[in-house]
Amino acid sequence: MTEILANNGNNLHQLKADCENCFALCCVALPYAQSADFAKSKDGGIPCFHLQSDYSCKIHQNLRTSGFKGCTVYECYGAGQKVSQQTFHGVSWRNSPDMAEEVFRVFPIMQQLHEMLYYLQEALNLQEASPLHGKLQRIYNKTEMLTDGSPASLLELDVPTHRIIVGNLLSEVSKIVRSKVKDRKNKKFKAMAANDLIGANLKGANLKGVSFKGAYLIAANLRDADLRVCDFLGADLRDTDLSGADLTGSLFLTQAQVNAARGDQLTKLPKSLSPPQHWLV
Ligand code: SF4
Repeated sequence: MTEILANNGNNLHQLKADCENCFALCCVALPYAQSADFAKSKDGGIPCFHLQSDYSCKIHQNLRTSGFKGCTVYECYGAGQKVSQQTFHGVSWRNSPDMAEEVFRVFPIMQQLHEMLYYLQEALNLQEASPLHGKLQRIYNKTEMLTDGSPASLLELDVPTHRIIVGNLLSEVSKIVRSKVKDRKNKKFKAMAANDLIGANLKGANLKGVSFKGAYLIAANLRDADLRVCDFLGADLRDTDLSGADLTGSLFLTQAQVNAARGDQLTKLPKSLSPPQHWLV
């Protein structure tokens, strides 16, 4: 077992990218398409034209202003260093072109497994979810065991089925935690949670304890909204305005989602997350 299991405390920080120990897998393995998030397109398996020989990014300091905002909102949850250093034993795709294709196929699978570990670890850190901690720990252990597999075993995994099992457990956690929220005045949002909320004006709304699981909140106005103990699992927060909003105690909110949103110095985030630079200027 890795350090993650040996220490079941608040250790979400261990499930995030360590680019120093990764051969820039996200910059090579993944495709991107010309859009508001990427100034140009490229196919998966092709190195980004901004990638340098030492695996660093030529425009790292200016990604947003250079039209590569999409790169600032991607998180591998530590999959990059795991694939680079453990699965492929520290051998780079550059030095071993024969294995490159396999590396690039394994990486997105590992990213999904590590993302699940991140959410499961967050759930394990929640006191209110203690009735489910046994189940959570078992599925965490199983997920981590899968990440330790060989390239061939990783490529054979039925990831969608595993995701459903993890997702159902996280939904149970969410229900337990949100059921403890008092003075919820937002019953209608229970039904709307998965609906399209693109561009919705929810300024100043009391949305405490709502599930936004999988919701499209793109460019929605959530200024000054009460978003305490909301579930944001998989919600799309691109350009969502969180200025002045209170997201204390929110569930399954990630740094990548926060980076994709807008906010300001008055936005309150869970302790494990930080305001991105573009909120502070
Ligand atoms: S722009 Fe930089 S961070 Fe984004 S894919 Fe290219 S090299 Fe990677």
